[in-house]
Amino acid sequence: MWGTRDMIARPSGCQGCVRNCRRNTDSGIGNESMCAASLWYSVADSLEVQVRAHDLMNRLGINGFESGLMPYLYNLYKMGVLGPGKQIDSQLPWERFGSWDFIESFLMSMADRTDIGADLADGSMAAFQRWGRWEEDTASGLAAWPNWGFVEHYDPRLEVEWSYGSIFGDRDINEHALNWHVHWMPLICAMAGEAPLLTAKELADTLAETTTLGDPMCFDYSEEGIYSDAKIKAVSWHRHYSRFWVQSMLMCDWVWPHLVEYGPTNGDVRGASPHYEPLAYKAATGLDLTFEEALEAGHKIFTFDRAIWCLQGRKPEDEVFTEYVYNVPTKAAYFLPIYKDGEWKYDTCLGRTLDRNKFEDVKKRFYEIEGWDPKTGVPLRETLESMDLGFLADELDKAGLYA
Ligand code: SF4
Repeated sequence: MWGTRDMIARPSGCQGCVRNCRRNTDSGIGNESMCAASLWYSVADSLEVQVRAHDLMNRLGINGFESGLMPYLYNLYKMGVLGPGKQIDSQLPWERFGSWDFIESFLMSMADRTDIGADLADGSMAAFQRWGRWEEDTASGLAAWPNWGFVEHYDPRLEVEWSYGSIFGDRDINEHALNWHVHWMPLICAMAGEAPLLTAKELADTLAETTTLGDPMCFDYSEEGIYSDAKIKAVSWHRHYSRFWVQSMLMCDWVWPHLVEYGPTNGDVRGASPHYEPLAYKAATGLDLTFEEALEAGHKIFTFDRAIWCLQGRKPEDEVFTEYVYNVPTKAAYFLPIYKDGEWKYDTCLGRTLDRNKFEDVKKRFYEIEGWDPKTGVPLRETLESMDLGFLADELDKAGLYA
């Protein structure tokens, strides 16, 4: 059986990147697997099986993001709902869950559309609905799939720049701009038994400056903070930053924005953002573009998307999370900075849910600051015209969305 130290690997990555987020292994198995995909079968009996499983998964082209899928299915098996002759009939060797035999047959069932793989090949949400499990299991949190049929990535009750951004968009955002700092930094330090690299106040102050938002309260994840105007501004900033720099200029999300520097510094922990991006843009295009102009362009792109979603039928009532987000309190420590009783600190955020009414109010205020109708979420004509997108207002009008 392998241990972690038996797996010899070296980092590899894109040319010029200091992060080198992928890896090449001596065996060639599991090359370049990283993040969720590398944890997808973390319930495996050994590291060797885990690595071989995600290697096969990648070679078959199966979505490795849904790292909650295997524990969910195994829970159904233990509940007596899934298995040979059960409500969800499956002849796979569930009694050997964790083994290579099991995972190979499971992955091949998806690739060949046999057994339960025939349902799962159309996506987890579609399978859960076909099995009649979706409503019950997303309400209890057994299936933690909070938005748009995507599995939970970061806790939607707490890390709201992620969950609000996702529900106001079209998918799990998968954008770590703030997440590295507000969640991973204090979490990893806590796991290592170390003090956070920055205090919560230092972090909030630094992010306020390097995002250009200017307000540390944008990074308050307290029970009040996640519904504040400052938080809505941060969510909006994140949507605009990523629409332009990440999704249009294709700067890597794992590196950009570079808001805080944790390596050796002369005491200045500010990252390369917001100064680097316009320089890179100028170097590549020869054009001048300020950071603020780029955020405006991101707003324009996001609003363009929004108009299309509205034409496709998007309504505010579609932008709701599954029930567990509102009803099931958090049970595991989840580090985030909070401002409480006049002080900043990192908190474990235990026992929290998202307040449905307060979130509905956030939704209206978010629409408002984006220049969308606070009742319908449809981009206002004046907003679109100010962005030179009047033709989209005409389309929305023709579709009866300004009635
Ligand atoms: S962090 Fe991004 S740019 Fe760097 S190696 Fe990974 S994918 Fe490439």
